[in-house]
Amino acid sequence: MKDHLGRTIDYMRISITDRCNLRCRYCMPEGIDCIPMTEILTLEEYRQVAACGAALGIRRIKVTGGEPLVRLGCCDFIRMLKEIPGIEKVTITTNGILLGKYLEELLQAGIDGINISLDTLDPRLYSALTGGGELKSVLSALTDTLRACKDRQIPVKINTVSMDLKQAALQLGCSYDGPGWQEMLELARRYPVDVRFIEMMPIGYGKLYGSADHQKILKQLKDRYPDMEEDHKVHGYGPAVYYRIPGFQGSIGLISALHGKFCHSCNRVRLTSQGYLKSCLCYEDGADLKKILQSGKGREETERELLAVMRQVIGDKPGEHCFEHPERITEHENMVKIGG
Ligand code: SAM
Ligand code: SF4
Repeated sequence: MKDHLGRTIDYMRISITDRCNLRCRYCMPEGIDCIPMTEILTLEEYRQVAACGAALGIRRIKVTGGEPLVRLGCCDFIRMLKEIPGIEKVTITTNGILLGKYLEELLQAGIDGINISLDTLDPRLYSALTGGGELKSVLSALTDTLRACKDRQIPVKINTVSMDLKQAALQLGCSYDGPGWQEMLELARRYPVDVRFIEMMPIGYGKLYGSADHQKILKQLKDRYPDMEEDHKVHGYGPAVYYRIPGFQGSIGLISALHGKFCHSCNRVRLTSQGYLKSCLCYEDGADLKKILQSGKGREETERELLAVMRQVIGDKPGEHCFEHPERITEHENMVKIGG
C-alpha cells in the first residue's frame, strides 16, 4: 500500500528474537536483559502479522533479530512465510556464526537471499568488535554459502558497518595493522558477493561511534579505482547505491542513511520481536500488535483489527528520519531490539 506521501510500502523486516550469540560493540556490547519467551511473539503470531502485511501489499520480508538463527524453528518460519500468498521473497540477515549449521535447511525452506554481517577480515579485531566471535567460522560459512547459492542464483551479500577500523581497534585495545574499511573490498574482488557499506546510525550504542561519511568513502574509492562505474542493475529492494570495479566479481554498495538520505524512497516497516510495528527507525511511532494478537478474540476479529492498525501505521509513516538532529530522535531502543 502507499503511505500518506505516496511511497509504496512493500517490505517488512521481522525480528524473531533479541537474543544473539555475539556482542557487537555498537549493537549489544553487554548483552540484553533476557526477556521471557512469553513476551516474544510465537512464530505463528509473526506469520499472522506477515499475512496481514501481504494483504496490505507487503511483498518482501527480511528475517532478522538479534541473531535469527539462534531462534529455534527459524528455517521452518521461513518456509511458513514463503507459503503466504502475495509474499514474493523472503531473505535473512545473519552474523554467519550458525550459517554453516543451518545453510542446507535455509535452502530447503526456500530462502531467496542471505546477508552476512561482517565488519573486518582481521581475526583479532573481529573478535574484539563482536565480543568473541570467530572469524574463521564466518568465512568458512561464506564460502560454503557462495558455493551452494551460485547455481540456485540466490544472492549473497556482505553488510559492513562503515567505521574507522584503526580507531575502533585503538578503542578496543586490540592491535591492528590492516588498511581500514578498504580491506573489505577484497571479498568483492575475490568472490561473486556484493559488499555493502552501511553508515553507522545513531541508534542505541551506535550513538557512541562516529558515522563514517560515505561521501568521503566514495571519493577514496573513485581515487583508487578511476574506472569504477555506478552499477544500475537491480541488486535488491533497499537503498544501496552500487558500483562496479573492473576485475571485481561482486559490486560495492553504499547505504548512506546520514550522508545520502534516501527517506523519499523508503519502502519499509519493521516488526520487533515483541510485536511492535515500527514505521521508521528513528522514531518510536508505531503500534503494539502483540496486544491485538493476544487479546483472546477470534481469528477473524483479530485479523480485522490487525489490518486496521497496520494500515494506519503504514499510512502515517514519518516523512524522514532526523539523525542529523539527535535531540529529535525518539527511538531509545537498541538496534538489537529493532532488527537493523
Ligand atoms: N544478527 C544479525 C546480523 O548481525 O546481521 C541481524 C541483526 S543486526 C541488528 C542487523 C544489522 O544491523 C547488522 O548488519 C548490523 O551490523 C547492523 N547494525 C547494528 N547496529 C547498527 C547501527 N547502529 N547502525 C547501522 N547498522 C547497525
Ligand atoms: Fe548480534 Fe547482529 Fe547485533 Fe552483532 S549486529 S550483536 S550479530 S544482533
